Amino acid sequence: MERLIVSVSGVRGTVGGTLGPQVARDFGCALAQMLGSGRTVVIGRDTRSSGPMIRDAVASGLLACGVNVIDLGVASTPGIALMTVRLKADGGVVITASHNPIEYNGIKFLQPNGVCLTAAQAARLKGIWESRRFAEADARRRGVESSNDRTHAEHVEAVCAVVDVKAVAGKRFKVVLDSINGAGGLVTPMLMGRLSCQVVHINAEPTGQFAHKPEPVEENLAQLCQAVRDCGAHVGFGQDPDADRLVIVDETGRFIGEEYTLALAAAFVLRHRKGKLATNLATSRMIDDVAAAAGCTVVRAPTGEANVVEAMLREGCFFGGEGNGGVIEPRVVPVRNSLVGIAYVLQYMAETNRTVGELVARIPRYVLVKTKFPCAAEAVAPVIAAARGHFASRPGARFNDSDGLRVDFDEGWVGVRGSNTEPIMRIFAEARDERTASALVAEVRNLADPIIAGKT
Ligand code: MG
Repeated sequence: MERLIVSVSGVRGTVGGTLGPQVARDFGCALAQMLGSGRTVVIGRDTRSSGPMIRDAVASGLLACGVNVIDLGVASTPGIALMTVRLKADGGVVITASHNPIEYNGIKFLQPNGVCLTAAQAARLKGIWESRRFAEADARRRGVESSNDRTHAEHVEAVCAVVDVKAVAGKRFKVVLDSINGAGGLVTPMLMGRLSCQVVHINAEPTGQFAHKPEPVEENLAQLCQAVRDCGAHVGFGQDPDADRLVIVDETGRFIGEEYTLALAAAFVLRHRKGKLATNLATSRMIDDVAAAAGCTVVRAPTGEANVVEAMLREGCFFGGEGNGGVIEPRVVPVRNSLVGIAYVLQYMAETNRTVGELVARIPRYVLVKTKFPCAAEAVAPVIAAARGHFASRPGARFNDSDGLRVDFDEGWVGVRGSNTEPIMRIFAEARDERTASALVAEVRNLADPIIAGKT
């Protein structure tokens, strides 16, 4: 049986396997223990059919240990994060396994600012959970549960507050939206309505019966691409099940690649505001080029949404995100938000009078080659050390070792890191052409293979 994954991003497991009501209740108790009796937590879930069971179990643990619970029902991850802030809660809980298949569910824990726990907080929560020593409250001090149905409305208002609604609405854009029967299906049409879009909404039912594999990558988006062509839409948008990530299809029905979501959104915001941006080490160099064209710079953080947000807050970045389709606008809430991405891309189209395809063509193009292969955990550090030594003498090489190793050269960059959750190593490289990128990957792979062989 697969093991339960307990990481800085929360808990993830298989329903009826590693993640059942007992585990979920224990995590509710552990969170209550960490926050203290008398505190308040908001809780919401994506559309997975296992959601109500996990939600009830977590809430039961929280209430039993004296923490009040505000239930938001089915909502997007950014919507739940927003309500955690707006309701001045002491924490938030999101029941979602994001882009993982239907067999999975997960529990994500949020700080009062809507951002997931820091590594230190996550480690503390895990320690309390492992101890299984929970202080249940007596009848008078049990938590109180209430519900709140304002999430979608407040989320749409918050996004509209940072967008030129009139400029977008005037265009009457025709949009195909694929919500994969996930949490975005409820709130996103409300935003589209405010922006006066003509929406063809596919996989719109919040049933949790995912219409295709949920990871928002090209091979899973054929239906969206076809629908854009069939209706002659201006643009197609695809969300993941908890609606924090967004991918885009251009006016010809072509999937433009998940890396372009952040690049386009960044190009848009830099027309209006200047300042530092933040992203992770694995994200395409396009954002550096877009920022440089506006006289701005990009801070690179270790992989993981929490790390990007932490870097944004620390370095005073006004905007950021991840190359996996995650756009982070702190003026709404500092987490990845597909609704912000949609609104920004539509306003970018509206105010430039350009199509998505034309806007994409204005951004310097790169080829990103990603590989992963089995690698024992103890081989990771020696491979990284070997790569560092190997590239040290190369002219102009710039090293970042805050998360594995990333080496930037003028012609591209190469990254190497071990997985936190599996015995896997990832090597990725980006350059102007595929040959250069693949050669960089092969160069590191040639260093890695004998080291990995020696450790097995
Ligand atoms: Mg997600």
